[in-house]
Amino acid sequence: MRKFIDLHLHLDGSVPVATVKKLMKEHNMPALSDEELRQELSVDSSCKSLDQFLEKFALPNKLMQTRHDLKTIVYDLLVELKQQGLVYAEIRFAPQLHTKKGLTQEDAIEAVISGLNKFLADQKKQKTSPELHAGLILCLMRFADNQKQNMETVKLAKKFLGKGVVGLDLAGAEGPIPNIKYKSFFDQAKKLDVPYTIHAGEADGPDSIRQALAMGAKRIGHGIRCAEDPELTQELIKKQIVLECCATSNMNTKAFDQIDSYPIKKLLHKGMKVTLNSDDMTVSNTNLPHEYKLLEQQTNLTPAEETTLYLNAVDAAFTTPDEKIRLKALIQK
Ligand SMILES: [Zn+2]
Repeated sequence: MRKFIDLHLHLDGSVPVATVKKLMKEHNMPALSDEELRQELSVDSSCKSLDQFLEKFALPNKLMQTRHDLKTIVYDLLVELKQQGLVYAEIRFAPQLHTKKGLTQEDAIEAVISGLNKFLADQKKQKTSPELHAGLILCLMRFADNQKQNMETVKLAKKFLGKGVVGLDLAGAEGPIPNIKYKSFFDQAKKLDVPYTIHAGEADGPDSIRQALAMGAKRIGHGIRCAEDPELTQELIKKQIVLECCATSNMNTKAFDQIDSYPIKKLLHKGMKVTLNSDDMTVSNTNLPHEYKLLEQQTNLTPAEETTLYLNAVDAAFTTPDEKIRLKALIQK
């Protein structure tokens, strides 16, 4: 079986459809047909922008407000990822989005960690190999008035670092408020030795990537629009900054409109540390094996290039040296 690593996977955009159905029933919400559910949860080719894309998170978010729901969702997602051949995943979510029914951010984090731990314990019992290991990335949100919530997330990332949490991120609609406005939170993360990645260069152009660099990011969520700026591309290569590329998602949000000109191969051959990831499995109706297949078919991505993408992900993962040794050994088998 092929082995995959995903470094950029949003929990709320990747809730398995069967889990949505199950939880809606538990909450006595009116049942939707499969077609209606698909329309609620996934974009189609009519999607015009990142903002339209983000509308698809409304229903999942309603189902992510209790400990039970959060635990169930991450558990079910991990089962699905394991079936797809993933051996390591970093799953991200914003704890401050899960406090609408009385949970604190800390409660939400604990609930997701409990789902992760249950999966890991069950996997051990079932003795299935290779194992899927996973870590959680906590997202700060690009809102206007949430300084307090963002700072709380930074502190909680430190508290749970190494206990399920592996890092921080900055997410949400790109553009209205520039990345650099959030610099103080990442200065604090740096002080606390919490690793981080920052979304940039997706809906917003090269300048947002420059800002993420100025904020000390070693990994960029997407970053693909660096291709518009040769000088910036050179700087990213020189600094060995890792791009977390997500092809289908970039087509959906119109960051790119032609998959056959998706620049991942070009960047790879220039020496850029690119990785391939799924972003939002349910919203984009995709998964990581599908992303690889798509680029094989549309851009002639080769097995050797795929191995490089995998090894780039190992190097960039927010994990221990021992875990990196395990992951490298898996691909060499
Ligand atoms: Zn993302």
